[in-house]
Amino acid sequence: MGFVSPVTLMVVVLILARWAAEIWLDGLNRRHVQAHADAVPEAFKGIVDAATYHKSVQYTVAKSGLGQIETSCDAAVLLLALLSGILPWGFDLFRHGFGVSPWAMAAFIFVCGVALWLPGLPLDWYAQFRLEERFGFNTSTQKLWWLDRLKGLLLGIILGYPLLVLVLKLVDWANGWWWLWAWAAVMGFQLLMSILAPVLILPLFNKFTPLPESSLRERLLKLAERTQFQARSIQVMDGSKRSRHSNAFFTGFGRFRKIVLFDTLIQQLIEPELEAVLAHEIGHFKKKHVPKMLAASALISLGGFYLLSLLANQAWFYRSFGFEPGSLAVALLLFGLLSGVVTFWFSPLAHWWSRRYEYQADSFAAKVMNEPRSLIGALRKLNEKNLSNLTPHPVYSGFYYSHPTLLEREQALAQPPSHGQAIQRIA
Ligand SMILES: [Zn+2]
Repeated sequence: MGFVSPVTLMVVVLILARWAAEIWLDGLNRRHVQAHADAVPEAFKGIVDAATYHKSVQYTVAKSGLGQIETSCDAAVLLLALLSGILPWGFDLFRHGFGVSPWAMAAFIFVCGVALWLPGLPLDWYAQFRLEERFGFNTSTQKLWWLDRLKGLLLGIILGYPLLVLVLKLVDWANGWWWLWAWAAVMGFQLLMSILAPVLILPLFNKFTPLPESSLRERLLKLAERTQFQARSIQVMDGSKRSRHSNAFFTGFGRFRKIVLFDTLIQQLIEPELEAVLAHEIGHFKKKHVPKMLAASALISLGGFYLLSLLANQAWFYRSFGFEPGSLAVALLLFGLLSGVVTFWFSPLAHWWSRRYEYQADSFAAKVMNEPRSLIGALRKLNEKNLSNLTPHPVYSGFYYSHPTLLEREQALAQPPSHGQAIQRIA
């Protein structure tokens, strides 16, 4: 490299800064966990036994080691893609072979995306079949795992490729305002997906069955009635097909809405605990957390598209990475590759916001259950069964955790109801 432009230099600094921050945060967290590893911390005595605690420490340390390798690989792949000249070389090859129509250009972006996804596959495989396996979580088979990847790729082609073509065509149709139209197209697509995914996409990966007639079903339907939550159905998902980790969520809009409980969750919790988990999910719904999050992400992507439209007009943006100026497909690709090194620094803000919503949903659940014990019981079991890290470093959890830690949630729930003020503040 004879000449390095200031832009290239800045990009290298950004990539290395994110890499260094991730490695540093991870080391901080690992040392913190290991410092507490010898005995069950006071706050968790009687909640978790020594053997489980010990195992959760080992699980955390093992995941941290793999995470560091992943972080380093990602940074290396990104640096190589942006600086080696392989992208402009591939672009020329593509242009000469297939022309510059939106169809060809969208295919170029797609091929680059797949090429950048491939190097991470062996690590994903290792995480599932070595690491998760070692701690007794993996229940997936090789065949199922590869089939999942293949289905994901096909869905990307069927759904993502036409969207890319549309965005590139809009540049010709809408001229200077293309970014606004492109944003509207992407938003419309996302909205459509959130309606269709529960009906068309999720069933491609998992089997959903209505919760059968039982005292549990009675109890959950009563809760839905009490909270005026119109549940079309409560579905059980065969999460145990891939993993022993457990979860619950609700998905879809309006009449497509469904509550989903993992079969693993039903095995692990007793009825009042399951009711509390569902109450927590209903809390998210009642407090309109999903539309609020969607609105925020829509605003952010509007800003993103506008920024892209500005960058796409700058010759230096292309030249810094070895391209001739002018192709929006190239600008889109570069923007996609670079956005992560900037958005990374805002993730603590997003996670802080998400944790606030978790507290609100917890407090809602405790209120409609008339007691916080069931939810606390459920959270304790979930942390235990999933071998969650009970003692993350506060800086680490502040940066990465979308949910508060077990201790934080218990403390918030332990506030007596008479402290309406305090609960109001959390809510
Ligand atoms: Zn939640």
